[in-house]
Amino acid sequence: MATPLHPQSPPPVRPSSRSEFEIAIVCALPLEFDAVCLAVDEFWDVNGDSFGRARGDQNLYTTGRIGNHNVVLALLPGMGKVSGASTAANLRHSYTELQLVLLVGICGGVPSPGGSREVLLGDVVVSQQVVQFDFGRQYPGRFITRDDASNTLGRPDRAIRTLLATLQTEHGLERLEEGAAQHLASIQCTASAKGRAVTYGYPGIEQDRLFPPGYFHKHHGQTQCLCHESEHPCPQATTTSCKDLGCDVARTVRRQRLYARQKSKVFVGNVGSGDTVMKSGLDRDRLAYAHQLIAFEMEGAGMWDELPCVVVKGVCDYADSHKDKVWQPFAAAAAAAATKAVLRQYSQTDRQCRSKYTRPGLQGIPPTQPS
Ligand SMILES: [Zn+2]
Ligand SMILES: [Zn+2]
Repeated sequence: MATPLHPQSPPPVRPSSRSEFEIAIVCALPLEFDAVCLAVDEFWDVNGDSFGRARGDQNLYTTGRIGNHNVVLALLPGMGKVSGASTAANLRHSYTELQLVLLVGICGGVPSPGGSREVLLGDVVVSQQVVQFDFGRQYPGRFITRDDASNTLGRPDRAIRTLLATLQTEHGLERLEEGAAQHLASIQCTASAKGRAVTYGYPGIEQDRLFPPGYFHKHHGQTQCLCHESEHPCPQATTTSCKDLGCDVARTVRRQRLYARQKSKVFVGNVGSGDTVMKSGLDRDRLAYAHQLIAFEMEGAGMWDELPCVVVKGVCDYADSHKDKVWQPFAAAAAAAATKAVLRQYSQTDRQCRSKYTRPGLQGIPPTQPS
């Protein structure tokens, strides 16, 4: 479904070269990439990629238009920091005029950031800052994150800061959430119309279960594995569902928003990025408190080494041991929809204030020219 364009925006035309692309969208998982593709209004590479790549760049790109922006899409070869860093380095070599890089997909959410807000599965987080929480020193029995500015990765450039500031006004956020809800419905419709195996439907509030951080995902009955005598689950428990283990739904935390939920909310804040999958409610809450985090993901820190990016990710679990994959498709679609809404807002920021991209902290060093 085509997006109506902003009345003052220039008509979109097919770019003639890579240098005309100012926006990149990067995904770590095929599921995330597919959801973003459903948000693309028009593809420029239906007859093959005519834009090519810089020498040595092994990324594969998809190009197209979302609203009135030309966008280049890249899928990471795997999850984690190294994958994010190498893809971003190549992306930067091939597409030298990028102004905005969005890292789009799914993440683990902090259920109650700051103790007052309620984040639900299917909500979307947008990064104000990316915090590398696993950068520090491992002492016997404990890890100390470096508590200085170096674990908070650079500052986005002015145009991105303007965009993020807009998204923190009630008006801007409301408009973003309304736009995202419309785009989500469109993505779901398109997926159904195309007969996709994944249709990105809402799994239902009964599937949104939050257990207290100290309630562990393990065998709860009398079993030979002795799970019930320990805080640590046996290896088999980590790959077994809550239902089969007997995790008690009566222990779930009540959330006010859950039964009144109408659409995905968008939260702007610090996103923690590390190379380990967060699967512990206690560690999640400890790190969230220490760094004012709203979510955890795995590629942002690596990307930031090369390109300042904005993380836009849908919450598919609560970063605890009970996590499963039920919410991943919906969360991926919610993130893709929010990305489209973010781009709509971005088109309304003053183009004059955009400065040509320079690496954070290295202002004045021009980006590498394409070969
Ligand atoms: Zn067990
Ligand atoms: Zn469980």
